[in-house]
Amino acid sequence: MHNVYIGLGSNLKDRFTNIKLALYYLATIGKIVKKSSLYKSSPVENKHQPYFLNCVVKLVTKLLPYKLLKKLKKIEKKLGRKKSKKRYQPRTIDLDILLYDKKIIKSKNLTIPHEKLHKRKFVVWPLAEIAPNFVHPVLKKKIREIKKELRDKSQKIWRIYE
Ligand code: ADP
Ligand code: MG
Repeated sequence: MHNVYIGLGSNLKDRFTNIKLALYYLATIGKIVKKSSLYKSSPVENKHQPYFLNCVVKLVTKLLPYKLLKKLKKIEKKLGRKKSKKRYQPRTIDLDILLYDKKIIKSKNLTIPHEKLHKRKFVVWPLAEIAPNFVHPVLKKKIREIKKELRDKSQKIWRIYE
């Protein structure tokens, strides 16, 4: 069994329902053993977008990294995420593998830990809630330390729900 942290985000249509449905589907590919609060965040890369709802879960699964990625893409598709050539477009749901055990993977289609994990408040804040002492295998820092050092005033985030 593998311990995986997955980041969820939605900024299109009924965000709350999208997150709820994604959690439901995630529970079919593993066991959700931890769940962060729900956060509301301002868009980061493309500012002309609606706000996001985000959360992070710890999933215990037997799926290997690429199989897991494939399943996540399937769930995104089921929830109506349209394929877009451009990145950072509004999406009904975005599912990212943030951490997978202590694994480090760097390939064309998959980077673990997630490339931008440590730069994004909407990932680091919920992650710090459920895995403060997890050591980032590349940066060799605890998530709580990464959170302390992430001081980007332009990223707004609010914890809205326990
Ligand atoms: P983003 O999440 O950066 O906004 P997308 O969700 O459109 O962008 O992802 C684009 C591609 O990123 C996916 O097709 C996937 O192959 C790749 N990718 C690389 N690393 C990861 C990861 N850790 N988790 C999820 N997708 C990843
Ligand atoms: Mg993604």
